Amino acid sequence: MRVGIGYDSHRFADGRKLILGGVEIPHPRGLAGHSDADAVAHALTDAVLGAAGLGDIGSLFPDSDPRWKGANSLELLHQAYRTVAAAGHRLVQADITVIVERPKIGPHVALMRERLAAALSVGPHAISVKGKTNEGMGWIGREEGVAVIAVAVLE
Ligand code: MG
Repeated sequence: MRVGIGYDSHRFADGRKLILGGVEIPHPRGLAGHSDADAVAHALTDAVLGAAGLGDIGSLFPDSDPRWKGANSLELLHQAYRTVAAAGHRLVQADITVIVERPKIGPHVALMRERLAAALSVGPHAISVKGKTNEGMGWIGREEGVAVIAVAVLE
């Protein structure tokens, strides 16, 4: 068994869609980024790559590369996992915490689990997604952005 941890954060920006865990969430602002800025998919990608000892999302999909501009991050997750699977690993389970003041994550958790699981060829029961606020503290409390922590277990 191998364990990996991933972290990601993105800044809120006007004129962007808010996409988390492959789900477009209705909100006045989205997240800035080279790709679709899906911080949930990015943190999970890093957790899975970290567990396999295969680097990180930046080494596989550098943001200096125009191929990944506006990229669907679920597709990046899927591609990263193919590398991990080719090295002989299989995802057992992942647990994700999304830290954001607004919007509420809870109503979107079921669909996020389904989409993330599909990208990783596992059932939704293998993927847990939880939302937390930062109790109004710091940059998350000021609604400047979103942070995500993910843990993945591979066998
Ligand atoms: Mg990111």
